[in-house]
Amino acid sequence: MSQASLLHRPVVRSVQSAIPTAVNAAESAAVLSVAPAAVAVSDADTVIRAKGVSVFYGAHEAIKAISVTMPRNNVIALIGPSGCGKSTFLRSINRLNDLIPGCRMTGELLIEGQNIYDPKIDLVALRRRVGLVFQKPNPFPKTIYENIAYGPRLQGLNGRAQLDELVEHCLRKAALWEEVKDRLTSSALGLSGGQQQRLCIARALATKPDVLLMDEPASALDPIATGKIEDLIQELKSSYTIVIVTHNMQQAARVSDRTAFFYMGTMVEYDRTDIMFTNPTNKQTEDYVTGRFG
Ligand code: ADP
Ligand code: MG
Repeated sequence: MSQASLLHRPVVRSVQSAIPTAVNAAESAAVLSVAPAAVAVSDADTVIRAKGVSVFYGAHEAIKAISVTMPRNNVIALIGPSGCGKSTFLRSINRLNDLIPGCRMTGELLIEGQNIYDPKIDLVALRRRVGLVFQKPNPFPKTIYENIAYGPRLQGLNGRAQLDELVEHCLRKAALWEEVKDRLTSSALGLSGGQQQRLCIARALATKPDVLLMDEPASALDPIATGKIEDLIQELKSSYTIVIVTHNMQQAARVSDRTAFFYMGTMVEYDRTDIMFTNPTNKQTEDYVTGRFG
């Protein structure tokens, strides 16, 4: 997707893309210097970059000056005890917090170098590009086919053959096609919980996102359905950058390339997942990943 595609008027480039490269490099150096060396990510590989992101609900600062770089085609797990700000941070990546009265954000959040809090950003385009999958599967009370076709149709895709092709493509990508190809006109609500969650992932894929955000996507599912979602995440990362909140340490260790540990609104540590689980720098991280937190 082009740099300007989130803007109403393509001529008005984001501040970031207008800055000369030398300044970008200096800026990146400043950001990277606060992150552990092991997770330094080059500009070209960075999809999501947070710079000192704080989010407030009224006077309460729910997340505090989070700076992080998330690379392309990686799965990044956000872990930490309830209430530490994982969902708040996740929602800030597609500006869903904007919908919460009294919620405000400071700092900068860039996707592909573009500040998504720039007033010129087209929010509809942003949310197409940054898909979100919730804990509880939430298919529309429509047919399986319509769940996928609905968004693209709103975007102006109307040809029956094109829609058919897209529906099949997304269902295949979400590893659901074989299970539902003979019942596309049945209600999505008749699917099992695990199938509904894969349908919600297929629906998110239909708007051709670059980033998928998942907030505890398997915590309402049985172990077999959970395994299918984990396999799917592994498949999808070749095409997308995925940020997943999980309470399941084994899951974080299995599916993610990088892990960020949040505690009381701060990001305590961020590193390669193997390091976070075997040799973390911070004592709190170690206590948390080994289940000794308290
Ligand atoms: P987590 O996902 O890690 O459990 P959250 O991001 O949901 O944490 O919450 C972080 C903090 O922000 C908590 O103190 C929570 O009570 C508060 N919070 C979350 N959502 C809202 C909201 N809509 N209004 C007010 N406070 C909220
Ligand atoms: Mg949460």
